[in-house]
Amino acid sequence: MRRLEGKNALITGATSGIGYAIAARFSQEGANVAINYRQDDEKVEDVLSTIRNICLSVKGFGCKDLTVQGDVSKEDDVVRMFHEVIKEWGRLDIMVNNAGIQKSSVSHETTMENFDKVIAVNLRGAYVCAREAIKHFLSREGGGVILNNSSVHEIIPKPNYLSYAISKGGMGNLTRTLALEYADRGIRVNAVGPGAIITPINKAWTDDPNRRAEVERHIPMGRSGTPEEIAAVFAFLASDDASYITGQTIYACGGLTLYPDFRKDWSSAGG
Ligand code: NAP
Repeated sequence: MRRLEGKNALITGATSGIGYAIAARFSQEGANVAINYRQDDEKVEDVLSTIRNICLSVKGFGCKDLTVQGDVSKEDDVVRMFHEVIKEWGRLDIMVNNAGIQKSSVSHETTMENFDKVIAVNLRGAYVCAREAIKHFLSREGGGVILNNSSVHEIIPKPNYLSYAISKGGMGNLTRTLALEYADRGIRVNAVGPGAIITPINKAWTDDPNRRAEVERHIPMGRSGTPEEIAAVFAFLASDDASYITGQTIYACGGLTLYPDFRKDWSSAGG
């Protein structure tokens, strides 16, 4: 499918996991992709070479790409990133807030430094990127699309990961509030809520067969998801196939949000 032909997209945290898969999928769909990375390392070259190969095979002559360094938790970096993209391409159509981190600790011992860091990257960073994107969308004709990488933890509590759960809960209202505020100006704002996906953020269990089996035992569909399955939902929401959808979080989680314990009728047994 070529649903994003000619669209310019900026994806944060695009050198790893789900962000990488979104960059690849958007390229497949014909988009020009601006890759945000935090640290300059070989992962940047890797994603660039992947999307250039995809562009060559899809279009036969390649498409535009761009790399933009920046830490989304730093407002100055985000503003500079936008200047770089607009200077180069003149226009941005799709902003994907994907960058995210998590830090584990029992809630009563969490340091403010760790708490603030997670909120600054996952929630504040997403807001600043959305703000800059909206300013740009309003400065010209045609509206635009903002997509947030949320989580099932937008609605499911996550003990020992309080700051992560709060950041994703906040992301739900960031999505809905911006969607409502700008719906009449051609700007759609949506989110994807992944479940347990095989990416580096989950190394602790993806690399250990026993722990992975334990995680997957809790998922109604019986398996973890792939970054490509999540990227497919982003591509749909970015495209005109989703032209009447705004303010929604689509959960792509193998059924994790369905209260899996209710598969058994323990609550009404014998009733
Ligand atoms: P990942 O492979 O660890 O990727 C996270 C990406 O975010 C990396 O590219 C990382 O860059 C980047 N990043 C971190 N801090 C940043 C900052 N301050 N500025 C710019 N980029 C930054 O993990 P992932 O699973 O793909 O996660 C992507 C998103 O999906 C996150 O928002 C996460 O919460 C969400 N999600 C993931 C899952 C899952 O099961 N994997 C489930 C639900 C939601 P560096 O490598 O340079 O740090």
